[in-house]
Amino acid sequence: MIEGATGRWEIVIGLEVHAQVVSEAKLFSGASTAFGAEPNAQVSFVDAAMPGMLPVINETCVEQAVRTGLGLNAEINRHSVFDRKNYFYPDLPPNYQISQYKQPVVGEGMVTVDLEDGSVCEVGIERLHLEQDAGKSLHDQHPDATYVDLNRAGVALMEIVSKPDLRNADQAGAYIRKLRAILRYLGTCDGNMEQGSLRCDVNVSVRKPGESLGTRCEIKNVNSVRFVQQAIDYEARRQVDILEEGGEIEQETRLFDAERGVTRSMRSKEEAHDYRYFPDPDLLPLVLSEDYIEAIRADLPELPDQKKTRFVESLGLSEYDAGVLVTEKEVADFFERVADGRDAKTASNWVTGDLFGRLNDAGQGIAESPVSPENLGGLIDLMADGTLSGRLAKEVFDEMFTSGRPASAIVEERDLKQVSDTGEIESLVDTVISDNADKVEEYKAGKDKLFGFFVGQVMKASQGKANPKVVNDILREKLG
Ligand code: ADP
Ligand code: MG
Repeated sequence: MIEGATGRWEIVIGLEVHAQVVSEAKLFSGASTAFGAEPNAQVSFVDAAMPGMLPVINETCVEQAVRTGLGLNAEINRHSVFDRKNYFYPDLPPNYQISQYKQPVVGEGMVTVDLEDGSVCEVGIERLHLEQDAGKSLHDQHPDATYVDLNRAGVALMEIVSKPDLRNADQAGAYIRKLRAILRYLGTCDGNMEQGSLRCDVNVSVRKPGESLGTRCEIKNVNSVRFVQQAIDYEARRQVDILEEGGEIEQETRLFDAERGVTRSMRSKEEAHDYRYFPDPDLLPLVLSEDYIEAIRADLPELPDQKKTRFVESLGLSEYDAGVLVTEKEVADFFERVADGRDAKTASNWVTGDLFGRLNDAGQGIAESPVSPENLGGLIDLMADGTLSGRLAKEVFDEMFTSGRPASAIVEERDLKQVSDTGEIESLVDTVISDNADKVEEYKAGKDKLFGFFVGQVMKASQGKANPKVVNDILREKLG
């Protein structure tokens, strides 16, 4: 909602996400899709649109699109069609892009989006279609020439179109993150926004609550969650200001200027392309059998929502902790190895607390964690069997993170074993009591708060190694 001079306005957002398909070869050619190659090192005659070359569909890409559709709880269309979308651009050698228009491979679906405050919202999927990526013009290689790199030309993209169900920038960000998580779990897109594997067109309109949809503007090719959110906030405000001054929103395509945090007009509806779509005569319709679809369905991995439910229902984690752990599959896998045969709540606390804290400070991801899941599990075992107190465990963890060594080796080397022997602790308690006769008097006279002081003194005398529970028991007994 936006507060304007004339009251509250509702923001309406629909996203078109372009996700690069994980596949070794392109959608209609055998050229490689590997990132970072020399310009034009991965271009087949088909990608360069040499005369007479014919596209051949890559079955892996179709399978990935179907898998994604199933992961988005969407309808898989048994019959779909590849169309030519005609336009001229220097990085598009055939002067058309092969895409799907009226009959996409995947129809309506639904994504459950987890919001920051713990609530969820459902976002409808309009469709998912397969299409080719274009090449890239390089303007900075020569003072008076533009070069073109066709490595990306023909790479398979899935365009995932949401319904206009999102209502603010936070929801849009959470939707993209959830979509990215699902794609990564499925292994159909690596979700790498810096490398351009996931890009977003953002459609924004505003209306008074209860009114029908307003005219939208489409902000093209935004490549980070933060930019999507900034673009939405800027654009919605811009539209409200125009409407409140009595103006009208012109349907147009805009660009997001990340440096200035504003959107700028790129082309209006009047200049909009007429793409003259028609079915590509070089390609037959794509017909999928029920068996083919069911085989892919049977092979789907456990997805974030299912994993979260299992973590809550079988492992007893809170919704919040489970949600944090399933966001990245690598994190969920790491956690499950730590929790294997151990208390899940303790494992979750170590992973989301201490480990995440240290990884964040070091700017590292879970894959680079110097503490392996087995070693973190070993540390938890040493707490469970009473070898380490909570305080000592934190100390040992710090050293594990710096050195990558297992907890047991550190405990042994530094002689950190917790002391639980009652005789040993009793004598420490006796010393503390006799050294602090005045405080004992005060305590006995009713100053209960001093109990903590005695615990602290005994722990200090044991160099932190005394089992705090035993210390408490003995002190309570001796102080009466
Ligand atoms: P186009 O081909 O012109 O981009 P699509 O039908 O593919 O149009 O829809 C583009 C996106 O615009 C979808 O994500 C849809 O949810 C969104 N959208 C449609 N109408 C509105 C609106 N009034 N306000 C905001 N988003 C909208
Ligand atoms: Mg569009």
